[in-house]
Amino acid sequence: MNNISMLIAGQHVQAARGATFNRRNPLDGSVATTAPAAGAADAVAAVDAAAKAFPAWAAIGPGERRAMLMKAAQSLEAKAEAFASAVATETGGSALWAGFNVQLAAGMLLEAAALTTQISGEVIPSDVPGNLAMAVRQPAGVVLGMAPWNAPIILGVRAIATPLACGNTVVLKGSELCPATHGLIVEALQEAGLPAGVVNFVTNAPADAAEVVEAMIAHPAVRRVNFTGSTRVGKIIAALCARYLKPAVLELGGKAPLVVLDDADIEAAVNAAAFGAFANSGQICMSTERIIVDESIADAFVSRLAAKASSLPLGDPRKGPAVLGSVIDMSTVERCNALIDDALAQGASLVCGGKADNTLMPATLLDHVTASMRIFHDESFGPVKPIVRVKGIEAAIACANDNEYGLSAAVFGRDVARAMNVARRIESGICHVNAPTVHDEAQMPFGGVKGSGYGRFGGKAGVHEFTELRWISVQTTPRHYPF
Ligand code: NAD
Repeated sequence: MNNISMLIAGQHVQAARGATFNRRNPLDGSVATTAPAAGAADAVAAVDAAAKAFPAWAAIGPGERRAMLMKAAQSLEAKAEAFASAVATETGGSALWAGFNVQLAAGMLLEAAALTTQISGEVIPSDVPGNLAMAVRQPAGVVLGMAPWNAPIILGVRAIATPLACGNTVVLKGSELCPATHGLIVEALQEAGLPAGVVNFVTNAPADAAEVVEAMIAHPAVRRVNFTGSTRVGKIIAALCARYLKPAVLELGGKAPLVVLDDADIEAAVNAAAFGAFANSGQICMSTERIIVDESIADAFVSRLAAKASSLPLGDPRKGPAVLGSVIDMSTVERCNALIDDALAQGASLVCGGKADNTLMPATLLDHVTASMRIFHDESFGPVKPIVRVKGIEAAIACANDNEYGLSAAVFGRDVARAMNVARRIESGICHVNAPTVHDEAQMPFGGVKGSGYGRFGGKAGVHEFTELRWISVQTTPRHYPF
């Protein structure tokens, strides 16, 4: 068991009222972590600390910020084993997944370090004689980042790395389901020498989330909010941000289509589908959630994908290597079981896997899925994925777009120009041709459309989200006035 603290103004603290909450291991129910259960007062204290640290952090040169972010990347990588253990204990994720998380999250810190010297503006021609007009990017202030449990290291780092690079100070609200994993990120940043108050960390019991989140969004010092999580909660955050006029980046749910055209390289498509559908047991926002296959090649594709999916190792990640570890909780099992029942009752066929009675869920594929079945539309966020057979390109595109979400997508076809034209017509923030739906790189503009949210993390797009663009001018000659 792991007892953790919050970090406020550089101090490791418990909740002001002394309350704690437990996160339990999803497989055996043992207490994985005991964490402070913050209330509104702690949330306000964290934002106050960030506000106090802001002027000095915003004023330091990019070189110094860059050095600290690079050091944080090293500290994070040095904690790879602690992260693997925390991920296995808190969320049941595999060592493979934890390792990938550490690697990409360290890359995000390095990319943020590189961005410190790329926060540039422009000089814009003014119609006023002698007027030097500039568009200048400045740090926005305190940034509140809220990260989920499913890709805990990547998404925890993503919530704060670019904001810090831009000269903002931050409050990270950890997930109730992996407070120790998120706490390790904050430790790595502290080891890198970031001054007290630049990074603050708040943990809360699930029942207090609404109170804690509103206290922070309402705080006048908070100037940007980012949230990664479900579309349901994303809409609550969006409404709160509207009420307090806070700009937000929202990265929400997904139902990524992988379209396999009639001329696809079947083996390449099978490998991408298996990886995209079953990495981290399908609990990734970019997970392949709909496999849309041209009927002319569907039999060959499905039999090969079934063989691959059935061979993926499943097990308790605390006991040895696995591709599919435990899913996050029994509610995922119940949701996935219900999706399977509904699809089978309406004529789908079970290709491999099936229902589970504990959180070790096998890779499961349902074939001949149609639009009347719930799994066609609803995010499973587990290792249960539908295959939809379609005839021709137009039907494939219509099927891909017949969904409330629009985060990631993929298209497979040997005629790359044709596949690219399909990709252009898919309504999603991200689409890869001949590559999986699950793909993230720190420098890429990452984000969705429709029910998947708005705003972009990554590279320069992230700089735009987490800075204020100001018009600053200097009158260099005497100015003419009409009166
Ligand atoms: P969730 O939305 O259930 O929970 C996220 C957080 O919301 C919780 O930690 C909680 O503190 C907070 N919250 C809950 N109720 C609240 C309320 N009433 N007011 C304010 N805050 C509240 O999401 P989750 O289960 O942690 O994550 C899974 C979801 O995240 C999936 O839908 C997945 O697709 C999505 N996701 C999206 C991305 C992306 O980049 N688009 C990445 C990963 C996960």
